[in-house]
Amino acid sequence: MVTLQASDSSELNGVAHVSILGATGSVGVNTLKVIEAHAEKFAVFALTAHQNIELLHEQCLRYRPEVAVVADEQLVDAFSTRFSGGDYKPDIYAGNQGLELAASLGEVDFVMAAIVGAAGLPATLAAARAGKRILLANKEALIMSGSLLMDMASRHAAVLLPIDSEHNAVFQCMSGGSEQEVEKIVLTASGGPFLKLPMDEFAEVTPEQACAHPNWKMGRKISVDSATMMNKGLEVIEACMLFKKDPKDIEVVIHPQSIIHSLVGYVDGSMLAHLAYPDMRVPIAHALAWPQRIGSGVRGIDLASLGPLDFSEPDLNRFPCLRLAYEALELSGSSAVILNAANEVAVKSFLTSEIRFTEIPAVIDAALQHVEHENIQDLEMILTKDRQTRTHARKFIEQAVRGH
Ligand code: NAD
Ligand code: MG
Repeated sequence: MVTLQASDSSELNGVAHVSILGATGSVGVNTLKVIEAHAEKFAVFALTAHQNIELLHEQCLRYRPEVAVVADEQLVDAFSTRFSGGDYKPDIYAGNQGLELAASLGEVDFVMAAIVGAAGLPATLAAARAGKRILLANKEALIMSGSLLMDMASRHAAVLLPIDSEHNAVFQCMSGGSEQEVEKIVLTASGGPFLKLPMDEFAEVTPEQACAHPNWKMGRKISVDSATMMNKGLEVIEACMLFKKDPKDIEVVIHPQSIIHSLVGYVDGSMLAHLAYPDMRVPIAHALAWPQRIGSGVRGIDLASLGPLDFSEPDLNRFPCLRLAYEALELSGSSAVILNAANEVAVKSFLTSEIRFTEIPAVIDAALQHVEHENIQDLEMILTKDRQTRTHARKFIEQAVRGH
């Protein structure tokens, strides 16, 4: 947990200025809710969005950030004109450069990295290079970066705090002992909407069914990842990197109620668990206030009314994406980049009904087998491998579609 360092600036002194990358998404909106409830502690400095300029405009009028970024450069003018005639207009930037600026400007204290997918990597790295407190929701950025993001954060005394509910839970449970005393990490998984679906019905599931998660309301990409359980695979990789553990020290257990968010097992047989109702405001409030605590707006658990909590082993035949993530972990180097990029392409194609749900693992498997694995040295290599994999996955999908 080297980069989860408590630097001198970790204590909240005065108002912390927060940039939210991906403000219009599910994590972004929840972050704004927590910040709004603690206006004496946090101020919104920058908000960014990809294409949803309508919501970004509304958010700007409400939270009055100094900076707004529209990642899709073609929409910048349309966004800018929305402010004409008003008494307020943020400084408006576009594209990747704009995102990196929002993540690294001198006035920024905290960066919520909540862009979905590989698109968030350069700005998250920029935040690390600028030594910010990074609230990391964008797991894909970490997974793709190999040790690059962790090293960058460490070198520039950035503080990296996990927002993913499992990793935030692990981080909280880690305070129960020293790093050497930790025997294993147990990540819980809900199993998603298809935990009990007969396997012969998997080929016909629709994007709407896949996005209807039983416990969490999330963006569409992570919802599909939860349905395939690739999300848990990505989270195993994320945990290895954040907590510097071997894959063999990380266990996944199905827990359909999503009340226990993860556990840490110690050498003396003790196991510490983190419990909360499934609501992202809990980890967001934790990371915003750390090492203190603030209200998240979520009530504590009423244990007596909970009913039973169930646990079981994941079935890798039912969820081949989880197996593929373990395979990628075994192969070192660029395999995580390949896994992630192929998954992003496959999920996008499934969401537009181009391929079937059951074809998602086939796209990823083919990419892992055929795209050349290399040792990753820098961002340029990561982005090149990401592009190569996307080209491969697109070709594979076009062939699959022709075969339908
Ligand atoms: P979402 O789809 O709801 O929102 C994504 C945000 O990223 C939006 O603001 C969008 O404008 C922005 N974005 C999308 N593509 C972009 C691009 N090309 N360039 C710049 N910005 C772009 O996603 P989400 O559910 O909020 O998830 C965000 C991240 O947090 C993901 O990495 C996800 O895995 C992680 N996460 C989410 C949850 C959750 O409960 N939603 C939980 C744990 C982790
Ligand atoms: Mg999670």
